[in-house]
Amino acid sequence: MYRCIVCGDEIGIAKGHALPPQNHHQHAVSQGPIRWQLTVCAVQR
Ligand SMILES: [Zn+2]
Repeated sequence: MYRCIVCGDEIGIAKGHALPPQNHHQHAVSQGPIRWQLTVCAVQR
């Protein structure tokens, strides 16, 4: 899944898809653009 490191919003996205859309959620002007970071599910086997 991806997390917006600016505001902490998270989005689950299907494997193989590109980055989430920049209009997924709204930022205040002071926050700047959405910055997605790929977060890996911590699955220990
Ligand atoms: Zn955000």
